[in-house]
Amino acid sequence: MSNETNEPEEVQPDYMIEGARSSRSKCKSCRKPILKGVTRLGILVEGPFGTGYMWHHLTCAAKRQYAKVEEAYAIEAWQFAKDPVEEVPKLEELAKLKEAADTKKKERKVIPYAEHDPSGRAKCKHSGEVIAKGCVRVVLGQEVEFGGQTRISAFLVLPEHVGAALATPEIVAGKDMHPSELIGALKENSKGLSDEEMNAVIATIGSLD
Ligand SMILES: [Zn+2]
Repeated sequence: MSNETNEPEEVQPDYMIEGARSSRSKCKSCRKPILKGVTRLGILVEGPFGTGYMWHHLTCAAKRQYAKVEEAYAIEAWQFAKDPVEEVPKLEELAKLKEAADTKKKERKVIPYAEHDPSGRAKCKHSGEVIAKGCVRVVLGQEVEFGGQTRISAFLVLPEHVGAALATPEIVAGKDMHPSELIGALKENSKGLSDEEMNAVIATIGSLD
Protein backbone atom coordinates (compact mmCIF):
# COMPACT_ATOMS: atom_id res chain seq x y z
CA MET A 1 0.00 0.00 0.00
CA SER A 2 1.32 3.42 -0.92
CA ASN A 3 1.31 6.26 1.53
CA GLU A 4 2.58 8.84 -0.88
CA THR A 5 -0.29 11.18 -0.18
CA ASN A 6 -0.48 10.51 3.51
CA GLU A 7 0.41 13.65 5.35
CA PRO A 8 -0.23 14.20 9.06
CA GLU A 9 -3.59 15.62 10.10
CA GLU A 10 -4.82 15.52 6.55
CA VAL A 11 -8.21 14.04 5.92
CA GLN A 12 -7.91 11.83 2.91
CA PRO A 13 -10.74 11.75 0.41
CA ASP A 14 -12.16 8.32 -0.45
CA TYR A 15 -10.89 8.66 -4.00
CA MET A 16 -8.08 10.46 -5.72
CA ILE A 17 -7.58 10.91 -9.43
CA GLU A 18 -4.18 12.24 -10.36
CA GLY A 19 -1.20 11.90 -12.63
CA ALA A 20 1.09 9.29 -11.10
CA ARG A 21 3.87 11.16 -9.32
CA SER A 22 6.39 8.38 -9.92
CA SER A 23 6.49 5.07 -11.77
CA ARG A 24 6.59 3.09 -8.55
CA SER A 25 2.93 2.32 -7.96
CA LYS A 26 1.43 -0.81 -9.41
CA CYS A 27 -2.07 -1.11 -10.80
CA LYS A 28 -4.10 -3.38 -8.55
CA SER A 29 -6.23 -4.37 -11.54
CA CYS A 30 -3.66 -5.34 -14.17
CA ARG A 31 -0.62 -5.59 -11.85
CA LYS A 32 1.51 -3.55 -14.21
CA PRO A 33 3.38 -0.43 -13.08
CA ILE A 34 1.59 2.86 -13.44
CA LEU A 35 4.08 5.04 -15.26
CA LYS A 36 4.79 8.55 -14.10
CA GLY A 37 2.24 11.02 -15.38
CA VAL A 38 -0.36 8.39 -16.29
CA THR A 39 -3.80 9.02 -14.83
CA ARG A 40 -4.50 6.82 -11.87
CA LEU A 41 -7.38 6.30 -9.50
CA GLY A 42 -6.62 5.86 -5.81
CA ILE A 43 -9.18 4.03 -3.72
CA LEU A 44 -8.75 4.75 -0.03
CA VAL A 45 -8.39 1.54 1.92
CA GLU A 46 -7.92 0.94 5.59
CA GLY A 47 -5.28 -1.69 6.05
CA PRO A 48 -3.42 -3.17 9.00
CA PHE A 49 -0.65 -0.59 8.57
CA GLY A 50 -2.86 2.42 8.22
CA THR A 51 -4.92 4.11 5.62
CA GLY A 52 -3.70 4.57 2.12
CA TYR A 53 -4.59 4.48 -1.52
CA MET A 54 -4.75 1.41 -3.67
CA TRP A 55 -3.88 2.60 -7.14
CA HIS A 56 -5.36 1.56 -10.45
CA HIS A 57 -4.91 2.87 -13.95
CA LEU A 58 -8.09 4.89 -14.35
CA THR A 59 -8.88 2.93 -17.49
CA CYS A 60 -8.35 -0.43 -15.73
CA ALA A 61 -10.63 0.66 -12.88
CA ALA A 62 -13.28 1.62 -15.43
CA LYS A 63 -13.20 -1.87 -16.88
CA ARG A 64 -13.32 -3.73 -13.57
CA GLN A 65 -14.74 -1.42 -10.91
CA TYR A 66 -16.86 1.05 -12.76
CA ALA A 67 -19.03 1.82 -9.72
CA LYS A 68 -15.95 3.11 -7.87
CA VAL A 69 -15.03 5.29 -10.84
CA GLU A 70 -18.52 6.77 -10.79
CA GLU A 71 -18.16 7.54 -7.10
CA ALA A 72 -14.78 9.14 -7.72
CA TYR A 73 -16.27 11.30 -10.46
CA ALA A 74 -19.20 12.23 -8.23
CA ILE A 75 -16.79 13.80 -5.74
CA GLU A 76 -14.60 15.16 -8.54
CA ALA A 77 -11.67 13.28 -7.12
CA TRP A 78 -9.21 15.09 -9.38
CA GLN A 79 -9.60 18.26 -7.28
CA PHE A 80 -7.60 16.61 -4.48
CA ALA A 81 -4.61 15.89 -6.69
CA LYS A 82 -1.25 17.40 -5.96
CA ASP A 83 -0.34 16.62 -9.55
CA PRO A 84 -3.54 17.43 -11.39
CA VAL A 85 -4.09 15.67 -14.68
CA GLU A 86 -4.37 18.00 -17.61
CA GLU A 87 -7.54 16.49 -18.86
CA VAL A 88 -9.70 13.98 -17.05
CA PRO A 89 -11.43 11.62 -19.48
CA LYS A 90 -15.18 12.01 -19.77
CA LEU A 91 -17.15 9.53 -17.69
CA GLU A 92 -18.99 8.47 -20.86
CA GLU A 93 -15.70 7.43 -22.41
CA LEU A 94 -14.92 5.28 -19.39
CA ALA A 95 -18.42 3.82 -19.54
CA LYS A 96 -17.66 2.70 -23.09
CA LEU A 97 -14.53 0.94 -21.87
CA LYS A 98 -16.59 -0.85 -19.24
CA GLU A 99 -19.18 -1.93 -21.81
CA ALA A 100 -16.50 -3.23 -24.16
CA ALA A 101 -14.89 -5.16 -21.30
CA ASP A 102 -18.27 -6.65 -20.32
CA THR A 103 -18.94 -7.72 -23.90
CA LYS A 104 -15.53 -9.34 -24.16
CA LYS A 105 -16.14 -11.20 -20.93
CA LYS A 106 -19.48 -12.46 -22.21
CA GLU A 107 -17.87 -13.69 -25.41
CA ARG A 108 -15.06 -15.48 -23.61
CA LYS A 109 -15.13 -19.10 -24.54
CA VAL A 110 -15.85 -21.63 -21.84
CA ILE A 111 -14.73 -25.24 -22.32
CA PRO A 112 -16.44 -27.30 -23.65
CA TYR A 113 -17.76 -25.57 -26.73
CA ALA A 114 -18.24 -26.21 -30.41
CA GLU A 115 -17.33 -23.71 -33.11
CA HIS A 116 -16.60 -23.38 -36.78
CA ASP A 117 -12.96 -23.90 -37.58
CA PRO A 118 -11.65 -20.45 -38.52
CA SER A 119 -8.41 -21.35 -40.27
CA GLY A 120 -8.32 -24.75 -41.94
CA ARG A 121 -4.92 -25.28 -40.35
CA ALA A 122 -5.73 -26.90 -37.01
CA LYS A 123 -5.55 -30.64 -36.50
CA CYS A 124 -7.85 -32.90 -34.53
CA LYS A 125 -5.69 -33.69 -31.53
CA HIS A 126 -7.18 -37.15 -31.26
CA SER A 127 -6.86 -38.36 -34.85
CA GLY A 128 -4.32 -35.94 -36.31
CA GLU A 129 -6.65 -35.11 -39.21
CA VAL A 130 -6.57 -31.56 -40.50
CA ILE A 131 -9.87 -29.84 -39.76
CA ALA A 132 -11.27 -28.16 -42.88
CA LYS A 133 -12.05 -24.49 -42.63
CA GLY A 134 -15.66 -23.91 -41.61
CA CYS A 135 -16.17 -27.43 -40.26
CA VAL A 136 -17.50 -27.74 -36.76
CA ARG A 137 -14.90 -28.67 -34.19
CA VAL A 138 -15.34 -29.39 -30.50
CA VAL A 139 -13.08 -28.02 -27.80
CA LEU A 140 -12.71 -30.32 -24.81
CA GLY A 141 -10.46 -29.87 -21.82
CA GLN A 142 -7.09 -31.40 -21.15
CA GLU A 143 -5.89 -31.55 -17.59
CA VAL A 144 -2.39 -30.14 -17.37
CA GLU A 145 -0.22 -29.91 -14.29
CA PHE A 146 1.08 -26.41 -13.91
CA GLY A 147 2.95 -25.20 -10.85
CA GLY A 148 1.41 -27.85 -8.63
CA GLN A 149 -2.09 -27.05 -9.85
CA THR A 150 -4.25 -28.78 -12.38
CA ARG A 151 -5.33 -26.52 -15.19
CA ILE A 152 -7.63 -27.17 -18.06
CA SER A 153 -6.28 -26.35 -21.49
CA ALA A 154 -8.08 -26.61 -24.82
CA PHE A 155 -8.13 -29.98 -26.59
CA LEU A 156 -9.48 -29.70 -30.09
CA VAL A 157 -11.31 -32.63 -31.68
CA LEU A 158 -13.61 -33.46 -34.53
CA PRO A 159 -17.12 -34.31 -33.30
CA GLU A 160 -16.76 -37.94 -34.40
CA HIS A 161 -13.75 -38.37 -32.09
CA VAL A 162 -15.22 -36.79 -28.97
CA GLY A 163 -16.23 -40.12 -27.43
CA ALA A 164 -12.86 -41.73 -28.06
CA ALA A 165 -10.98 -38.68 -26.80
CA LEU A 166 -12.97 -38.70 -23.57
CA ALA A 167 -11.83 -42.28 -22.95
CA THR A 168 -8.32 -40.86 -22.43
CA PRO A 169 -7.86 -40.15 -18.72
CA GLU A 170 -6.53 -36.59 -19.00
CA ILE A 171 -9.17 -35.50 -21.49
CA VAL A 172 -12.27 -34.14 -19.81
CA ALA A 173 -15.55 -32.68 -20.97
CA GLY A 174 -14.88 -29.57 -18.90
CA LYS A 175 -13.82 -28.54 -15.45
CA ASP A 176 -15.35 -30.91 -12.86
CA MET A 177 -17.69 -32.22 -15.53
CA HIS A 178 -18.94 -35.73 -16.12
CA PRO A 179 -18.98 -36.75 -19.80
CA SER A 180 -22.77 -37.11 -19.63
CA GLU A 181 -22.98 -33.37 -18.94
CA LEU A 182 -21.08 -32.53 -22.12
CA ILE A 183 -24.05 -32.12 -24.45
CA GLY A 184 -25.87 -29.69 -22.17
CA ALA A 185 -22.69 -27.68 -21.69
CA LEU A 186 -22.03 -27.60 -25.44
CA LYS A 187 -25.51 -26.21 -26.08
CA GLU A 188 -24.93 -23.56 -23.47
CA ASN A 189 -21.39 -22.55 -24.43
CA SER A 190 -21.34 -22.78 -28.20
CA LYS A 191 -22.03 -19.48 -29.90
CA GLY A 192 -22.30 -19.07 -33.61
CA LEU A 193 -23.77 -22.49 -34.35
CA SER A 194 -27.32 -22.83 -35.63
CA ASP A 195 -29.68 -25.27 -33.87
CA GLU A 196 -29.43 -27.51 -36.91
CA GLU A 197 -25.64 -27.60 -36.73
CA MET A 198 -25.75 -28.16 -32.98
CA ASN A 199 -28.11 -31.12 -33.43
CA ALA A 200 -25.85 -32.55 -36.11
CA VAL A 201 -22.84 -32.27 -33.80
CA ILE A 202 -24.75 -33.96 -30.96
CA ALA A 203 -25.84 -36.77 -33.28
CA THR A 204 -22.25 -37.24 -34.45
CA ILE A 205 -20.88 -37.33 -30.91
CA GLY A 206 -23.39 -40.02 -30.04
CA SER A 207 -23.91 -41.59 -26.65
CA LEU A 208 -21.41 -40.77 -23.92
CA ASP A 209 -22.71 -42.94 -21.10
ZN1 LIG B 1 -3.89 -1.34 -14.95
